[in-house]
Amino acid sequence: MKVNFREAKSIVTKSNIPSIDYVINPYTGCQHACIYCYAEFMIRFTNHKGEKWGEFLDVKTFDFDKMTPQKYKGKRLLLSSVTDPYLPLEKKYLNTRKILEKLVDTEAEVSILTKSKLVTRDIDLFQQFKNIEVGISISTLDDDFAKKIERGASKPSDRIIALKEISNAGIKTYTFISPFFPEITDFKAIIKATQSFTNQYSFENLNFRPHNIPRIIKVINANYPQFLPVYEELKKDRNYWNLVEMDIRNFCEKENLNYKIEFHHGGFSKS
Ligand code: SF4
Repeated sequence: MKVNFREAKSIVTKSNIPSIDYVINPYTGCQHACIYCYAEFMIRFTNHKGEKWGEFLDVKTFDFDKMTPQKYKGKRLLLSSVTDPYLPLEKKYLNTRKILEKLVDTEAEVSILTKSKLVTRDIDLFQQFKNIEVGISISTLDDDFAKKIERGASKPSDRIIALKEISNAGIKTYTFISPFFPEITDFKAIIKATQSFTNQYSFENLNFRPHNIPRIIKVINANYPQFLPVYEELKKDRNYWNLVEMDIRNFCEKENLNYKIEFHHGGFSKS
């Protein structure tokens, strides 16, 4: 892992994500190195051309005292959108913790999203926020398969334990079932495993992009060759996602869950 320190001009930036006003990315790059990652485009924008996603990390340097938490009153603020706030190196560099310490008085609605059990370290801070929710993203309950698709992240079983601990500490939680791998993501089993300590569910489909298609197909071929025809078919018939959405909707309604479906456009997914 190549680590650099880069001075950031700002640490809270406006977001293009629907329903999120601002994002905070304490690092550039992501040690989790998910094979489907949509944030790889950051390589082009951050002087890392020729390097591999998951093999470099820029620790942003910034005078965190200059942050103005009151400026975000009533806005939604997400940590993080193109990295994970609880990367293994967060233990050493503490950027996420330093940022949260400056934000505790904010009247913004803060949303934390991670694939790391390290998130429990900051429960003491979360408890000081007026309006915060903490979520994990998860595609599968299979720890071995997760290692193949998200090699640097915590095991799904550990993410679930972390979420439970956070909920037990009185903090609002959510489970982001994402990305939804056709035929592999057993969303009902994930819900069953998390329902007693999850306040809200959201769902996002797997988005195929030119840069990630070969990697995804390779992993499916090696682990679930029986589903390969479904993945190939998805290139032509996007109706598959409508059926998945309907299944999710029916199940969540039946279970009376608080949920959002955030299937989006792009690649050859639903359009
Ligand atoms: S955790 Fe998110 S940002 Fe990091 S590699 Fe995975 S998908 Fe990309």
